[in-house]
Amino acid sequence: MSTDETPRGKCVICGKPQDAKFKPFCSKRCADVDLNRWFSGAYAIPAEEESPGELDSPGDRKD
Ligand SMILES: [Zn+2]
Repeated sequence: MSTDETPRGKCVICGKPQDAKFKPFCSKRCADVDLNRWFSGAYAIPAEEESPGELDSPGDRKD
């Protein structure tokens, strides 16, 4: 019988304890990392068109 002090899982990205708010991640940052992985996989098709008016530079946004 081994009772762990931390029954919670670990962040699937960095291995830190999960935050209930960002499950299964430890933070929004790691959630974003996972999201980006998804996108980079989903949008493997080279996009030649640029969407005008939606110039959103990643990493520059603040919540
Ligand atoms: Zn993490």
